[in-house]
Amino acid sequence: MAALSCCALLAQTLGSNLAFPNTTAYETTVSSYWSLQEVSLHPSCVLRPSSTNDLSTAVPILTSNKCTFAIKSHGHAPAAGFANINDGVTIDLTSLKTVSLSADKSVAHVDPGLSWFEVYSYLDKFNVTVAGGRNGAVGVGGLTLGGGISYIGPRVGWTSDTVLNFEVVLGSGEIANANATHHADLFRALKGGSNNFGIVSSISFRTYAQGEILAGNIISPFSQLPAVADAFAKLANATPYDPYAELVTSVAWTAAAGWGNFTHIAAYTKPETKPAALQPLLDVANSTNTLHITPISTWSNESANPLTERLFYTGTYGVSAVLLQDIVHRWDAILNSTAPIPGLIAWGFTFEPLPTVFTAHYKDNGGNPLGVTDEQGNMMVLLLSPVWNNTASDTLVVERAESLLAAADQAAKELGLLKRFRYLNYAAPGQEPLRSYGKKNFAALTEVSRKYDPNGVFQKLVPGGFKLWD
Ligand SMILES: Cc1cc2nc3c(=O)[nH]c(=O)nc-3n(C[C@H](O)[C@H](O)[C@H](O)COP(=O)(O)OP(=O)(O)OC[C@H]3O[C@@H](n4cnc5c(N)ncnc54)[C@H](O)[C@@H]3O)c2cc1C
Repeated sequence: MAALSCCALLAQTLGSNLAFPNTTAYETTVSSYWSLQEVSLHPSCVLRPSSTNDLSTAVPILTSNKCTFAIKSHGHAPAAGFANINDGVTIDLTSLKTVSLSADKSVAHVDPGLSWFEVYSYLDKFNVTVAGGRNGAVGVGGLTLGGGISYIGPRVGWTSDTVLNFEVVLGSGEIANANATHHADLFRALKGGSNNFGIVSSISFRTYAQGEILAGNIISPFSQLPAVADAFAKLANATPYDPYAELVTSVAWTAAAGWGNFTHIAAYTKPETKPAALQPLLDVANSTNTLHITPISTWSNESANPLTERLFYTGTYGVSAVLLQDIVHRWDAILNSTAPIPGLIAWGFTFEPLPTVFTAHYKDNGGNPLGVTDEQGNMMVLLLSPVWNNTASDTLVVERAESLLAAADQAAKELGLLKRFRYLNYAAPGQEPLRSYGKKNFAALTEVSRKYDPNGVFQKLVPGGFKLWD
């Protein structure tokens, strides 16, 4: 059915929750995405539900009339159409904003439309936390359903490993609760299967006792590449790994200035000022060290990025200083030998340790479908992200990104360190992260999809994101 007719049908029962073009509510949603590609899409209307029941009312209207729709939390997936849609209905879950704690403070019930900053701001007062995103502007929904790497990940595993219950609106409109004992297959599938099974309307997370943390940026010049690579590998391969240590190491390249500094965004999730686990980073010459004691909410409240085109690409590798250096050298060769891309602002490269203490949680609370286990050894996740502002360069950017990623994969392959896993929340369209979970897990996800969504609502009518059916 034409999208405008779908909106008219929704308006009959959910009129006060619908927003149309040229209204403030509509523009607020459409302008709230993180990438220009998502902001450039124009749904026929936006549904901002007030309750799970609104979603349960809306979904059968959409499905019985074959209306296409997108599901949006905080819009931080950069690829076009992942959480927004042209000529369809965008369901903006940021209107669902409740967070509460159980009486004993052991469980947090969180609406998926909240940002992690909103969640931490509430929980910090009770000295508990959840395994949420490190950047507070990111949404609860997308991050959790794709896995989720948090400050406390090495203590507790993926964000999705810490979920106790998903409330989800299925393609039929039925509201289901999925947990370790009820709809356990759906529960496991949601812990990495993204938007393939339903609209998740509430998530119950296990909480963890948490006071302030040590966090900050340590900045070392690019000339320190060998020492930075050694320090990263020392921390990421530490035996035993101190589960309170958490690290994101980034470097950017611009056509004008070449390589920038290395920035370690380092955290220690205890209020200790000099943890030994972070010392390797500090042993390298640095120009800046802002490590300080802070509440998680304050540290997660990063400033907003300017609106530009952006994409994410990812790879996963075994940890090695030699590999890290080799990858950067190969990127350097490509970036310095290829024609400049008009409108390119920067290439961002980020490495994050995925130690076995983290991945050992893969069996927690009924297990996850990611196919990443501690038996695979310590790993590091690469996030490669181009930032540009010229749509005419889109194809060139994608081609260059693919060649940079291929170079990193090849370097890892030559050292026997190439891993199968591609983290869904950092993956580009075409990277097929769900298949990277392994054949068995992919088949299990597909089976769950066919069981709970036999008509393929979330395969056909929700085109955004990574899909299961061919
Ligand atoms: C600045 C920045 C910082 C980041 N930091 C981290 C980090 O620390 N750790 C980490 O693991 N990742 C991080 N990421 C990656 C992040 O996890 C993904 O971009 C994630 O998809 C964002 O979730 P969202 O809800 O904001 O996005 P959205 O774009 O709203 O949603 C992403 C996908 O999830 C689906 N979805 C969202 N909510 C629901 C729901 N309730 N039901 C069904 N489907 C839903 C959408 O349909 C869409 O396909 C970061 C990304 C950015 C841009």
